[in-house]
Amino acid sequence: MSSLTLQALRDCEDPELRLLVIGDPVDHSLSPPMHNAGLEFLHLRCRYGRLRVSPEDLGEAFRVLRGQDFIGWNLTLPHKLAAVDLMDGLDPLAERLGAVNTVVNQSGRLFGFNTDGRGLVAAITEAFGCSMASVRIALLGAGGGAGQAAARYLSELDVPLLVLLNRTAAKAERLADELADASETEIRVEHWENFPNVCGEVDLIVNASSVGLEGGGVHEALNSIESRHLVFDMVYGPRETPLVQFARERGARSADGLLMLLYQGVFAFEIWFGKPAPVQVMRDALFKSAGRVR
Ligand code: NAP
Repeated sequence: MSSLTLQALRDCEDPELRLLVIGDPVDHSLSPPMHNAGLEFLHLRCRYGRLRVSPEDLGEAFRVLRGQDFIGWNLTLPHKLAAVDLMDGLDPLAERLGAVNTVVNQSGRLFGFNTDGRGLVAAITEAFGCSMASVRIALLGAGGGAGQAAARYLSELDVPLLVLLNRTAAKAERLADELADASETEIRVEHWENFPNVCGEVDLIVNASSVGLEGGGVHEALNSIESRHLVFDMVYGPRETPLVQFARERGARSADGLLMLLYQGVFAFEIWFGKPAPVQVMRDALFKSAGRVR
């Protein structure tokens, strides 16, 4: 299924198209096969598509979707922050995170939610079986959109230690200042050069940077990963990511972001339909569409 444009959405007469993921680009999103498998399994007579919308057209897209009585939609890069100001109401968590990835359309009134943080924690818990209450975490790429949302969510869980690293350190520093008073978590910012020392202090390494292993001496720094570490890479693709592979070669347990994509989708599905999502069905469809065998 190819992505719709805004004009194609205006002209769309498919009564079953009731859910979407909106992004730019969005052609490669794996959300449609995952959600459509769940919708089909529960015999819900609706379909989930893709809509490519540029940032300047986001408000107009929401106007069209309100008018066409869509159940809701997901938002991906680059719309999660801008969507906040286009909502009629925000779930308190989405308000605190300052980002929306799930929208519910209730008779033309739009309510924004954020399931990314819960998705991240559900994925980490499934992959490693660890309790977030006791893990000390290093967050790479903490200044990006996904990294900032993860830092805010993890600090709300009062994890004992959260070390923020970002190529542009000033972004991580601003975030740490903002979070410092609102959490029991010890929050620190460190520069990449100090990653080997950080490794000695943490149990879980979460990568939220889009590159992870490239450039800036990052690869060298990652040599400090030990077999006792848990490594979660938010990035995903048809194959194991370089970071996951690198960590595994060092004897560490590692997982990529496909499970996070699954769980943020599962939680969105449950918000839209108010019933448990068929997790296994959605998982199978997602891993199959990603070209991954389970
Ligand atoms: P973003 O807002 O563009 O942030 C990109 C991050 O990567 C920033 O921290 C940036 O650092 C860093 N970065 C970029 N190029 C770099 C380089 N050459 N060296 C070091 N750091 C570099 O993107 P995002 O929305 O946060 O997404 C980040 C990644 O997470 C993407 O791969 C995305 O697919 C993934 N993600 C996965 C899920 C999931 O469900 N699994 C959900 C959300 C995002 P600066 O601040 O210095 O620019």
